[in-house]
Amino acid sequence: MSANEKRAKRPMWAYTPELPIKHAAYVDTPSNLSAIIKGELLAWMPTNVRFYALLVTLAIYTWFLPSMERMENWGWDWFAEILLRNYLLIILVAGGLHLWLFTFKGQGEEEHYDTRPLATDSIRFDFRHQTKDNMLWTFVGVPIGTLWEAFMLWCYANGYAELVSFSESPIYFIIIMALIPLWSGTHFYFLHRALHYPFLYKWVHSWHHRNTNVGPWSGHAMHPVEHFGLYSDVLIFLLVASHPIHLLFNLMLHTMNGPISHTGYDKLKVGPVKIQVGDFFHQLHHRFFDCNYGITGAPWDKWFHSFHDGTPEGNKLINERRRMMNNPQLKK
Ligand SMILES: [Zn+2]
Ligand SMILES: [Zn+2]
Repeated sequence: MSANEKRAKRPMWAYTPELPIKHAAYVDTPSNLSAIIKGELLAWMPTNVRFYALLVTLAIYTWFLPSMERMENWGWDWFAEILLRNYLLIILVAGGLHLWLFTFKGQGEEEHYDTRPLATDSIRFDFRHQTKDNMLWTFVGVPIGTLWEAFMLWCYANGYAELVSFSESPIYFIIIMALIPLWSGTHFYFLHRALHYPFLYKWVHSWHHRNTNVGPWSGHAMHPVEHFGLYSDVLIFLLVASHPIHLLFNLMLHTMNGPISHTGYDKLKVGPVKIQVGDFFHQLHHRFFDCNYGITGAPWDKWFHSFHDGTPEGNKLINERRRMMNNPQLKK
């Protein structure tokens, strides 16, 4: 059998979650209130990444944040402290997942979407090596996310960002917390659409798309300009009264979810517990490009007809969309 025939016979995915992919209940079934409440509560449970982002946020706020008095004046000493913390965090999350899933094959190929190995000899990547390339651009990006964090902390310390505490307004505090994933996913969708315009794609976003198959280090393997854009959603806290915990949670959604959503494995097995780690919705974006720009927790891909639900019909729909865009005269 020729190499082409083998390729044609290989199924597109070694594993998929239940298809079609669903959006959050408030998008798919807006009239079903009990499904909406159940879905929103489940998203904060220990089977979901959001839970761990919140835990890490609280740990950082309690133990790894310079005092507000120190941050009133810009200082490279406290900047260096949070930079070091952010480096350690990314090494722990991306490095830990890579070692467990790819180096030690801790759960074999169980729930692995695409079992092709990560590239180790390809001219597409710096050092001709996907993981080394991905690590390099992740490490270049960490100071950029940290600059956003330090800038916003400095704004809180100097009263440029309005502070609100949990004890003052617990309901407001929780509502803002609950809205952060939607805000961050919305910002990501529109930024990501812009990054797919040819000029920005060619010079910036194509760096991330070198990864057609992904591993944990791929999550932050992007051009520094994209890193700058990704974390810029924290500017919302100059307009909306908030607490450093809100800021840190927004940052952690990016920092932790980057590597976690690019593991390429649907779930991480920890004893009898399975934690949702992979993001098949985004994995489809890496394979098909012109679809699934945002997250399933926000409605934008569905509303703007760029949603690929993972099924063969979805493949056809996206291919048809691409054909129409390349040949506008075909539009009815
Ligand atoms: Zn990606
Ligand atoms: Zn993209």
